[in-house]
Amino acid sequence: MIQTQTIGYPRIGVQRELKKAVEKYWKKQIAAEALQKQARQLRETHWRTQRNHRIDCISSNDFSLYDQMLDMSVLFNCIPKRFQEIQEQEDELTLYFAMARGLQNDNHDVKALEMTKWFNTNYHYLIPEFRRDQEFSLNTTKIISEYQEAKALGIDTKPVLIGPVTYLILGKESEEGFNRLDLLPKLIAVYQQLITELENVGVSYIQMDEPIFSLTLETKTQQALQFAYQELATTCKQSKIVLTNYFGAYEDNLELACTLPVEVLHFDLVNGQKDLSFITDHPDKFQDKILSLGLVDGQNIWKNDFTSSKEIIRNVVHQYGEERIWIATSCSLLHSPYDLDLETNPQLEPIKSWLAFGKQKLAELHTLTHYDSREEKWIKAFVENEKIQQDRRTSALIHNAHVQQRVSAVAESDYHRKLPFAERQELQKKKLNLPFYPTTTIGSFPQTAEVRKQRRAFKNQTSSQETYDQFLREETEATIRFQEEAGLDVLVHGEYERNDMVEYFGEQLDGFAFTQNGWVQSYGSRCVKPPVIYGDVSRPEPMTIKWSSYAQSLTRRPVKAMLTGPVTILQWSFVRNDQTHEKTCTQIALAIRDEVRDLEKAGLSVIQIDEPALREGLPLREKDWKSYLQWSVAAFRLASSGVQDNTQIHTHMCYASFNDIIEDIARLDADVITLEASRSKMELLEAFADFKYPNEIGPGIYDIHSPRVPSIQEITVLLERAQQFIPVQNLWVNPDCGLKTRDWPETKEALIHMVAAAKKLRERITIEVESA
Ligand code: GLN
Ligand code: ZN
Repeated sequence: MIQTQTIGYPRIGVQRELKKAVEKYWKKQIAAEALQKQARQLRETHWRTQRNHRIDCISSNDFSLYDQMLDMSVLFNCIPKRFQEIQEQEDELTLYFAMARGLQNDNHDVKALEMTKWFNTNYHYLIPEFRRDQEFSLNTTKIISEYQEAKALGIDTKPVLIGPVTYLILGKESEEGFNRLDLLPKLIAVYQQLITELENVGVSYIQMDEPIFSLTLETKTQQALQFAYQELATTCKQSKIVLTNYFGAYEDNLELACTLPVEVLHFDLVNGQKDLSFITDHPDKFQDKILSLGLVDGQNIWKNDFTSSKEIIRNVVHQYGEERIWIATSCSLLHSPYDLDLETNPQLEPIKSWLAFGKQKLAELHTLTHYDSREEKWIKAFVENEKIQQDRRTSALIHNAHVQQRVSAVAESDYHRKLPFAERQELQKKKLNLPFYPTTTIGSFPQTAEVRKQRRAFKNQTSSQETYDQFLREETEATIRFQEEAGLDVLVHGEYERNDMVEYFGEQLDGFAFTQNGWVQSYGSRCVKPPVIYGDVSRPEPMTIKWSSYAQSLTRRPVKAMLTGPVTILQWSFVRNDQTHEKTCTQIALAIRDEVRDLEKAGLSVIQIDEPALREGLPLREKDWKSYLQWSVAAFRLASSGVQDNTQIHTHMCYASFNDIIEDIARLDADVITLEASRSKMELLEAFADFKYPNEIGPGIYDIHSPRVPSIQEITVLLERAQQFIPVQNLWVNPDCGLKTRDWPETKEALIHMVAAAKKLRERITIEVESA
């Protein structure tokens, strides 16, 4: 009998219960017990849902209060020294959230772990930090108790762990003089203890996630994998390892994976279809391993194409026999929304039959596995699925001849500003007349409870357009006044009218659809509700002119208009899978280009086009980067090049190291780029300096992901550091991302400190100039 398995399930809750409970706990509105109770209830619901869909092998320990990588660091007691006092003085939960978010109060002032993208998803994990003398020890309560919790419900789960090599590779050394892979033997010893403990409570399958198999691996890493799984196999007595790769193919690592002594090998056959031919051509390579075929897309929302999945299953079963095949989701359903049945919005109706969310994917697993050509109900399910696929292929909702014509009419000159940067810089300096160390922010200001309440009321039609607009005008004006008083140089309107930087645009573009409950975790308690791009994209009307030009009308200082770039809109949406990403991205770029021009016409001289997701879109294997960067950079240029040379184009990126794509970032040819840099203490600027980054740059000077307020001194030190790398006439001063997740008091204090630091440096320049 073919079995089914899930690689992981979303944890945030259908109604984002976890998010709400965690945030209440942070605000001290509920106690730890109440938070844990909510967490327990969610786990129970999730396990039961999977069991009701008759999934054979269900995961546990896929739940987390914040992040699964952070859980691993806590599990292995891999806690950086700066948290030692907290560890000694506070309870476990305080320590846990301090590592996640930093902690600043009367007793402590500690920075969070760094955060970065989880492979090519929009999920972020907390980066483990390793010391040279790093020791690991076992702190097992969570994983064991969650297993037992499920067991008590009659569900024998498969605990999920990040595998030892992925855990090390995704971490970083916090001091020099060693390679973190050298810690592997010590780490393995602790995994072995853990396996024994898991076996003692009756665990029979353990899932080890090693998604680094989707990357190009150095020999040292390959050897580490070999060593790790050889060692772990010696410990496994009655338990079996399910080795899991996802987000891509094993490709050149597949031979290695085949040799590892594990019971089950999982394949992502949605993003790693390349492995399929190896599977069918080389059954001899897999010894007697079970193959888990990840056919149901865990990262996107399109209904599975049963006919093509069935064909794959048939071929593989033919080679391996049913006992050696499991059918699975491609990756954890963490990246999928929960349940399509909750969507009642008529707007989604025309495309709803094309979609499947988490719960529907569970049903797909079951259908694919139990299909029997002699049974009426299965035949019906397959015929219906085929009809839906056909309907989608030919639907008039998808194809817009006008958009397609425009895409094919794009000319080479559409990708270029008229003058080179150096000359544009002159023109812009003249027009904007900014001081040295110009200060600005990234766009959003705190989205307070009141802002969200007003937006909800407007959306639910319990308040009128007029009331809502009046509210937005007041907020925007107050924000402009604050920025003037604080002494910022380039102001922003605050983005109060926006729910989300992608959704806001998607809602106004044709070709996009929206869910009401399609939440997906982004990091910690933050969730996003990605739009669904289902058809050709176009812009029926201007999208941002109203609020940007209102803000500009309030002040003599330049206001920076805010747009989301085509690559980010693409990356943060569920993208259609019936045409290339390149083509979809070009369509979005043309819509943004029209918006940029309209903003310029409306009198905005500074326009920011955010591309925080440009880097995360990079294919996992370096050999595939070139073609991606080719079309993604082109899309940005197409969006931004339609303006006069004295209009200043900014872009913004965050959450990643940019060193490896710095030349491509330069090719965007934005006049100014603002970047996340503060968490990594300006390390990334070295690359910009080595490369002699030609345009202006604002390295984020403080971390907005934490409520911690940086001191003037701290900011000054970072700026001084930045100055070593960036010529002063090119240097901007700004936080490292938008402020929407922050509260006002800390925002004000931090920005006032930031401006004070900039002024301090300006004075020094004046003195230097005078004494020269
Ligand atoms: N302009 C956006 C904001 O300030 C940028 C957000 C981001 O980079 N993620 O909110
Ligand atoms: Zn950002």
